[in-house]
Amino acid sequence: MRDFAAELEQRREAGLYRIRRHMSGPHQPMLTADGDPVLAFCSNDYLGLASHPELVDAATSGLVEHGLGGASSHLICGHHSEHHRLEDRLAAFTRRSGALFFSTGYMANVGVITAIAGKGDTIFSDALNHASIIDGCRLSGAQVNIYPHADTATLAEQLAATDGHKVVVTDGVFSMDGDIAPLRELASLCRQHDALLIVDDAHGFGCVGPQGRGAVLDAGLSEEDVPLVVGTLGKAFGTSGAFVAGPPMLLDYLVQKARSYIYTTAMPPALATASCRSVDLVEHDEHRRGHLARLVNRFRSEAATMGYDLMPSATPIQPIMIGDPHEAMRLSTALEKRGILVTAIRPPTVPKGESRLRVTFSAAHTEDQLDQLLDALRESAPRAVTDRALANV
Ligand SMILES: *Cc1c(COP(=O)(O)O)cnc(C)c1O
Repeated sequence: MRDFAAELEQRREAGLYRIRRHMSGPHQPMLTADGDPVLAFCSNDYLGLASHPELVDAATSGLVEHGLGGASSHLICGHHSEHHRLEDRLAAFTRRSGALFFSTGYMANVGVITAIAGKGDTIFSDALNHASIIDGCRLSGAQVNIYPHADTATLAEQLAATDGHKVVVTDGVFSMDGDIAPLRELASLCRQHDALLIVDDAHGFGCVGPQGRGAVLDAGLSEEDVPLVVGTLGKAFGTSGAFVAGPPMLLDYLVQKARSYIYTTAMPPALATASCRSVDLVEHDEHRRGHLARLVNRFRSEAATMGYDLMPSATPIQPIMIGDPHEAMRLSTALEKRGILVTAIRPPTVPKGESRLRVTFSAAHTEDQLDQLLDALRESAPRAVTDRALANV
């Protein structure tokens, strides 16, 4: 048998060992972690909807009306009218002809990619794509060409050198960097080389584009340009589940072929009830997006002045680049001593040498809470950071 214990020890020594904190109470910026109160800047609840009373109410009335369990898969007898209502609502929200509700974003990516590409086909995948996309590519059996992050010139060469069925897949907003894929260039390359473009905009929906309709719409791209768009409901929407939006023919194909759609129990219908309500909130609450943008702007300008190395991101994902995993852990621990929770993100989630603190903002954060984060960052700044600040003045 393999020496699993030794592998765990190696992980610890490399600064890559991960632990789970025990959180309690509803998800909001002030949390209880392992019994201690902390102010969190690391959740994906970008619009502060995860504990919104209207969503809790919608879920509660959904439970009373429709019961709890999903009871069966969608193709047996689990496809509830509430699921279908959510799909129609998501299609309207994304301005696409249809949507298909999946249990999670992970399953949506694995299901879509394995259905759309297989042996003999070629998938082109951005180097920084989410793990669920990577796993979908691996499982598909297709040839996988990983192009350097957002490098459309290299992708163009790879596409030109490849025959047969081609699929290009990318995050819309990149989950660990917060930047947005060059969607217009990607769409134009795909048109030129007859490739199918799939965009996973898990972090864009709710935050990016007019009324939070996502990065694809914000780039002015239609369903013809980007046939399939994936979104998750567990982030800005504050609920759970995911969807794929696109033309009915392709969605029908997925219903027939996407194994992670077919061979799993449907989500509780009440969750779809709550998600419908959430789409309404996301669509209409411009105030939340405005507040979020103000927090992000102020954080960027003040953290940069302190000498922190930020990344070119205009989204609520604002990583502080550190590099060394031990150093990233040290900063995370120093912040936690000051009551601020920001988790360090280390390999294999990010490339080697690119460990970082992934700071994320929520519309539920107050200006005062941002001040607390900035104070803690000022007091915990590593030497290299304060040196950089001094060199800047
Ligand atoms: C979070 C995430 C997913 C997975 O979504 P879940 O619903 O949490 O499974 C997929 N893609 C990206 C880019 C993500 O950030």
